[in-house]
Amino acid sequence: MFIGHFGAGFAAKKISPQVSLGVLFLAAQFIDLLWPLLVLAGAEHFRIVPGHTATVPLDFYDYPWSHSLVMVLVWAAAAGGLYFLFRKNRSGALVISLLVLSHWVLDFLVHIPDLPLLPGSDLKAGLGLWNSPAGSQLLEAGLFAGGFWLYLKATQPRNKTGTWSLISLAAFLAVIQVMNITSPPPPDELAVAVTGNLQWLFILWAFWVDRNRNPI
Ligand SMILES: [Zn+2]
Repeated sequence: MFIGHFGAGFAAKKISPQVSLGVLFLAAQFIDLLWPLLVLAGAEHFRIVPGHTATVPLDFYDYPWSHSLVMVLVWAAAAGGLYFLFRKNRSGALVISLLVLSHWVLDFLVHIPDLPLLPGSDLKAGLGLWNSPAGSQLLEAGLFAGGFWLYLKATQPRNKTGTWSLISLAAFLAVIQVMNITSPPPPDELAVAVTGNLQWLFILWAFWVDRNRNPI
């Protein structure tokens, strides 16, 4: 899942208006930001298998540190704890923890059973909605549109940048989503892991958007 996670980040602004969209995006997408780094470091592995699911041609056969349920609970607690340490904002910290966890829950809906419950275990979960391209895209589009709408309702632009930075961010995310599902399988694993790091751009972009919008 890609754009749906950003939908969750957008939506959280309605509950935690004092937390920057950049932080909310970072939390919602945290384990997918960690994943390419761990792959590049040789700690996690995947392979390209065309047709592995009807939507995503990747076999995530080894990603216990970024995507096992137990580790995601650890990351969620750490992220919320760190935020609380710096900002002393209890509800914001809770929302950040829940966002980190939301990534696993949303992945659970679309992944085939490849999400480990804990590192080293053969117990793996996933409902496999990726095998229904229409269903998984509807879910992602719905999450994204709903989240975007909530963010729009929770904030107002301080200036023209506050409007255009947000529209261009949403449009760019939507374009990447369409490219992800319409492109042929990627050339090799290294290319996937390297380009995965470009997602940091969206985090920085979200900080920029949020700086130019005020909570309502
Ligand atoms: Zn993921």
